[in-house]
Amino acid sequence: GEHIVSGTGRRRLGVMGGTFDPIHHGHLVAASEVAARFELDEVVFVPTGQPWQKSHKAVSPAEDRYLMTVIATASNPQFSVSRIDIDRGGRTYTIDTLRDLRALHPDAELFFITGADALAQIFTWRDVDELFSLAHFIGVTRPGHPLTDPGLPDGGVSLIEVPALAISSTDCRARVAQGDPVWYLVPDGVVRYINKRRLYRDGQAPRG
Ligand code: ATP
Ligand code: MG
Repeated sequence: GEHIVSGTGRRRLGVMGGTFDPIHHGHLVAASEVAARFELDEVVFVPTGQPWQKSHKAVSPAEDRYLMTVIATASNPQFSVSRIDIDRGGRTYTIDTLRDLRALHPDAELFFITGADALAQIFTWRDVDELFSLAHFIGVTRPGHPLTDPGLPDGGVSLIEVPALAISSTDCRARVAQGDPVWYLVPDGVVRYINKRRLYRDGQAPRG
């Protein structure tokens, strides 16, 4: 396609990893802002694979998280969704995501987008040295989490401020379970999908 940017001439591909259970406007604003600031050609959203069955934290089925991500991003020509982590199966490590994307897009420059909370954990991630050779990391502000350079190699990370949306998937799930609205926290189509599939109800009687 027509995705050549002046400068290096390489395609600039943003990568937004997440559980997306559900995807919300905090994710979308972060991706949109980074795309504009870094002149990205595309941002690919990559929902994580399904953690092991006995994971302490129950996660919605991968197919539901994938479809909500598609619904939320479909109208933006710069956004796409990848199944690579879901199809690989098992727990997702960012190193595998980036290796696979590198193989799929050998000529692209990769920009991995991460919120302040996730960035603070980066040294607990698998194969951290190789991570920084595969992608440039972009840490974005998130309300309630200080944004600091966790000590990545020189030039390995950029920290940028994005419009502050104090939204989390955890809070969205709790709201649905309590019968509180998630309108305007997540895209309209995602509200409707949550209702259609009766996600996050926790056995409570539906309201509204
Ligand atoms: P959960 O509460 O289930 O952990 P979450 O809201 O943190 O959900 P994730 O899917 O865990 O969403 O996050 C994916 C990525 O998006 C992470 O890098 C996270 O830091 C970032 N992110 C999530 N919400 C926001 C937000 N409101 N503003 C900026 N970045 C965000
Ligand atoms: Mg999170």
